[in-house]
Amino acid sequence: MKNMKISTKCLHGFRYQSAEGAVATPIFQSATFAHPAIGQSTGYDYSRLQNPTRETVENLLASLENAAEALAFSTGMAALTTLMELFSPDDHIIATSDLYGGSIRLFQHISQKNGLQIDFVDTSNIAATQNLIKPNTRAIFVETPTNPMMNVTDISAIKNIVKGQNILLIVDNTFLTPYFQQPLLLGADIVLHSGTKYLSGHNDTLAGFLAVSEPQLCERLKFIHKTTGACLSPFDSFLVIRGIKTLGLRMDKSQENAIKLADYLQTLSMVKKVFFVGLKTHPSYEISQRQSSGFGAMISFEVDCQATAHKLLNNVKIIQFAESLGGVETLITYPTTQTHADVPPADRAARGINDRLLRLSVGIENVDDLIEDLSQAIK
Ligand SMILES: *Cc1c(COP(=O)(O)O)cnc(C)c1O
Repeated sequence: MKNMKISTKCLHGFRYQSAEGAVATPIFQSATFAHPAIGQSTGYDYSRLQNPTRETVENLLASLENAAEALAFSTGMAALTTLMELFSPDDHIIATSDLYGGSIRLFQHISQKNGLQIDFVDTSNIAATQNLIKPNTRAIFVETPTNPMMNVTDISAIKNIVKGQNILLIVDNTFLTPYFQQPLLLGADIVLHSGTKYLSGHNDTLAGFLAVSEPQLCERLKFIHKTTGACLSPFDSFLVIRGIKTLGLRMDKSQENAIKLADYLQTLSMVKKVFFVGLKTHPSYEISQRQSSGFGAMISFEVDCQATAHKLLNNVKIIQFAESLGGVETLITYPTTQTHADVPPADRAARGINDRLLRLSVGIENVDDLIEDLSQAIK
C-alpha cells in the first residue's frame, strides 16, 4: 500500500513472509545455512552476512526512514564505528559539539588516532558550520535534538551548504526516531540510530542502525558491516521488531507526559532552567515544528545547586537513576558523572553540562505519579 502512515508502517512496513503464516517474525537462531547443492543457495549463507530475522528488522527500519536500505548493528556505537570506516586518514569531519558522550569519545579517541580530522561546532549555527568546510571535508555529523542540551539543527539548511559537494550529511536520529523526524526526506544521506533507545523501547536490549539513502553508499557500508562483523543477533533483531510495533503509541504517550513534566518543572523554584524542545520558549521551537512532527520526550533541567541535584537522584522512587533513555520506564540521568563523564571537564562546561544539570527520559507511566515522585524527591 502506498502512503502508509508511519504508525501502520511500524507494524506492516515490512513483514517476514512465513510459509506457516507466522504473524510474529521467527527467530532464525542459526549461525549458518546449508546449501541444497553445489552452486545453489537459499539466499542465506552465514549469519554475519545475512540472517532472515536481521534482514526483516533492517527492511522495517528502511521502510520507516524512507531509506534505500538499512543495516542492523549490535549497538549504536558499533553502527557509528562502522560508519567511520567509510573515511580515510586526513578526511575532515564536522560534528555537532553537543553530542552523545560516547560519540565524542569515539571521535576524539579512536577516529582521530586513525587520522581523521574532527571539528566540533554548534551545528545549529549554520554560518559557523559552513565556515569550517575545507577541501577535505567529507561529512557533517549532526545530532538533533542534542544530548543533553536539546539544541536543534536545521537539517535542510545544513543540506543547502553541502549541496553539490562530496560531503555526506549524517544525522543521529535516536532522540526523535522516524516516528517524529525523517532526516532522509530533509536531504540527509545517512541516519544513525541507537536502537537501544526508543526503537526497542523497553530497556532490554542493545542495537544500532544505519539507514542509507543511496544503494551504492549502502553497498560500501554493507561490505564494512560484514567484514568488521558487529551485526545484530537474531534474538535482538526480534526484540527490536517487537519494540517497533508500539513505537507510535510509546512516542505519543511519552511526549504527552514530557510536555506536562516540562510545565511542572518550570513551576519549581529550585529548577532554574528547563531544556525541552516542546517549550514555546525553546530557541528552535519553530525549526522543530517545521522539520519534525513531534518534540520527543527528553528533558534536561538545571537545578539551583549540586546538593539539590544529588537529593533528587537519591530520593526518586518510581523514576530510576540510570543511564540510557527511550524506554517505557522514566529514567533520570546525571550527565556529568554518567553519559558525559569521559568528556574533559572544560569541554563539558563549554557545552553547558555542569553538576546541576539532570536529564529525564520520560516514560509511559501515569504522569501524576511522575510529578508526585519528583515533588517528594526535591523537597
Ligand atoms: C545511546 C546513544 C548512542 C549510542 O548507542 P548504544 O546503543 O548505546 O551504543 C548514540 N547516539 C545517541 C544519541 C544515543 O543516545
